[in-house]
Amino acid sequence: MMAWTKKESNHYIFHYHIGSLAEKDIEEIINIQENCYDVISNCLNVEMKQKIHYFLCETPTEVGELFGDNEPCNGCAKEPNEVFAVYNSEVKCIGFHEDAHLISYKLSVPPQTFLREGLAMFFDKVSLGIPQYMWIKYFIDHGLYVKVEDLVINKNFYKYSDLVTYPIAGAFVEYLILKYGMEKFKAFYCSVNEDFNKCFSQVFKISVSESNMQFINYINCLGYNDTITDIIKNEIQDKNIIGIT
Ligand SMILES: [Zn+2]
Repeated sequence: MMAWTKKESNHYIFHYHIGSLAEKDIEEIINIQENCYDVISNCLNVEMKQKIHYFLCETPTEVGELFGDNEPCNGCAKEPNEVFAVYNSEVKCIGFHEDAHLISYKLSVPPQTFLREGLAMFFDKVSLGIPQYMWIKYFIDHGLYVKVEDLVINKNFYKYSDLVTYPIAGAFVEYLILKYGMEKFKAFYCSVNEDFNKCFSQVFKISVSESNMQFINYINCLGYNDTITDIIKNEIQDKNIIGIT
C-alpha cells in the first residue's frame, strides 16, 4: 500500500499517496477546488466551519473502503467534511460536485435525491463535458425524458440511468434558480419535506407538473448544435441506455 501524505490550503486538507499522479498534480488540484469552493460558498452564502478533507484515491475500490460501505465508486461526500475521489490517469473526480454536496448540506439535506443531486449538478453545469440543457433537449426529442414529478419520488429516481436522471435534476434546478432567483430557491431547498408537491406549490405558486411543462417549453426555446446531438447519441449508445435500467 502506498503511504499517504497531505497538503493544506485555505479551505481544504488534501490527502494523497506518495508517488501518485495526485501528488504530481496537487498544485493544480488545489487551484481547481479552491475556485469551486469560492463559487459555491458565495452563490449559496454558506461557509464551512471546518476545512474539507479531500482524499485522492487510486481506485473506486479504495474510495468505497475509505467511505466505509465498500461499494466501489468514483467519488462520494461524507458529512460533515470529507470527500473521497478517484484521481488516476483515466478518472479525475475533482471539480464542483462533491464539494457542492458538503457545502449545501450546511443549509439543509432535503429528502429527495433529485433535489440534492440537482443542486450539485447545477454547479457542474455539464455531464460528460456537454451542457446539461443539450442532454435534456436530446431526451425530449428521443423519448428518454422523465418528468420531474416522477423523479422527485426516490424509488423512481433510482430506476433510471444516472446519465438521464442527473442532467434532468441539474437543468431543472438551474431553471428554477434562473427563473425565481437564488433566495426563493434556497427558501424551497430549506423548507421542503416529504411532501414535495405541496412545498413546491407553496413557494413557487405553481404545481410541479405545470412547472415541468414550462421547463420543457424553456428547453425548446434554447439553441443547440447538431454536432453535439451526434456526440450525445454516441455516448448514449456506448452506455446502452434504454430509459429504464
Ligand atoms: Zn452527487
